Amino acid sequence: AKKAVLGPLVGAVDQGTSSTRFLVFNSKTAELLSHHQVEIKQEFPREGWVEQDPKEILQSVYECIEKTCEKLGQLNIDISNIKAIGVSNQRETTVVWDKLTGEPLYNAVVWLDLRTQSTVENLSKRIPGNNNFVKSKTGLPLSTYFSAVKLRWLLDNVRKVQKAVEENRALFGTIDSWLIWSLTGGVNGGVHCTDVTNASRTMLFNIHSLEWDKELCEFFGIPMEILPNVRSSSEIYGLMKAGALEGVPISGCLGDQSAALVGQMCFQDGQAKNTYGTGCFLLCNTGHKCVFSEHGLLTTVAYKLGRDKPVYYALEGSVAIAGAVIRWLRDNLGIIKSSEEIEKLAKEVGTSYGCYFVPAFSGLYAPYWEPSARGIICGLTQFTNKCHIAFAALEAVCFQTREILDAMNRDCGIPLSHLQVDGGMTSNKILMQLQADILYIPVVKPSMPETTALGAAMAAGAAEGVGVWSLEPEDLSAVTMERFEPQINAEESEIRYSTWKKAVMKSMGWVT
Ligand code: ADP
Repeated sequence: AKKAVLGPLVGAVDQGTSSTRFLVFNSKTAELLSHHQVEIKQEFPREGWVEQDPKEILQSVYECIEKTCEKLGQLNIDISNIKAIGVSNQRETTVVWDKLTGEPLYNAVVWLDLRTQSTVENLSKRIPGNNNFVKSKTGLPLSTYFSAVKLRWLLDNVRKVQKAVEENRALFGTIDSWLIWSLTGGVNGGVHCTDVTNASRTMLFNIHSLEWDKELCEFFGIPMEILPNVRSSSEIYGLMKAGALEGVPISGCLGDQSAALVGQMCFQDGQAKNTYGTGCFLLCNTGHKCVFSEHGLLTTVAYKLGRDKPVYYALEGSVAIAGAVIRWLRDNLGIIKSSEEIEKLAKEVGTSYGCYFVPAFSGLYAPYWEPSARGIICGLTQFTNKCHIAFAALEAVCFQTREILDAMNRDCGIPLSHLQVDGGMTSNKILMQLQADILYIPVVKPSMPETTALGAAMAAGAAEGVGVWSLEPEDLSAVTMERFEPQINAEESEIRYSTWKKAVMKSMGWVT
């Protein structure tokens, strides 16, 4: 059969904490043509530790690319139409590998991992000058969350890493760097780079000068020669060296939350989106200015879509545990067999019946930044059953979002009139309705939920030398939206929210 004629296509790798996906879009219509997804294992070798296998992650990317290409073939779509590939990735997760063998020297230390708590305590005692040293340069609080302390831990504790650094064989990267280096040839000429958005999550990057910061590297004791080159989010980094898409340029790279901001077309100052994945991340575009929060939000690089294009910044509210609490109910308690099943349980009761669940598994991120917190389920009675706990878990995601939205409104001055959402959890309609009820503003969801991948594809397609995707708003296809309007009254919403805050207070100070 004759293959269908289409405009240029763009692929996107979306390497998340829960899964890897590869998706192919039509650059003219932003239509999603085909995709493939593989779940990623998480290892918890000790309490508070979270690791993943970098080779499994890489393998999952190859598998998703091959399977998607097969599916396109079945649709009679010629894969030679794929003109560029973008990469979006879980941020902060830290990999060190050997540039001579291509082998990782340790598992990837995942962003959620808490092993660096004492590293952070020790470092915070010797911050030079005022306490603002790290925050004023990076926009970030000194926390277990960011790559620099994970890398410090690896240098202190893993002999193989130390030895490779001494012998000038070690390369550091977040997942984007690991993937791009491997996909562009690895030991045979792989390109060691990252983009400004991912760099801004390492705690080694100066978000004003857009360069690795010498003073920060000295403070954390990080040898600068193991760091990747920092590039813009949209330019040709290198070509795919193997597989069905060999020779296709990789020309877009964005941390997943930045990619979702782009995919949701939040290009204007004041536009925001909230993504519900493993964690939950609300980002608000602040244009060319770095806005520093008074209310526990981070300042981060939003994107820089081209070498000669200006940089955009964002304020970010980060919640560590969102979808991860659903996965925990599935894997650790076994009260559901699949994440989707949570909706059925929650629907059965329609209320948590006074039960509150604070999933502070990795301490609390924004707006508290409290590493001493641990998860609690409270307000239990003889009447409580697993459906109420399921409901409380969903409600927890909504309350945490309310906390970061409140902080955002205070920092920005102009309250958001509605919330644009995306991410794996947004297929849950009960969650979306609850969110509208708890925020008391409408929640708006694009009908094409893969906005993270779309953002990475847009960056790749728009790159100089590719030029198949125009980022001018009139070229973006009319996106259809699903809206959830608040249904309970504001007073009821406030009562529930204030009880939640009481529960949060109880979760703090468990670990000393
Ligand atoms: P990530 O980008 O962090 O890998 P995704 O956006 O792929 O995450 O979302 C996956 C997360 O969403 C998982 O933690 C999963 O438990 C949760 N999830 C998926 N479907 C549902 C659902 N229907 N209801 C609630 N949670 C869900």
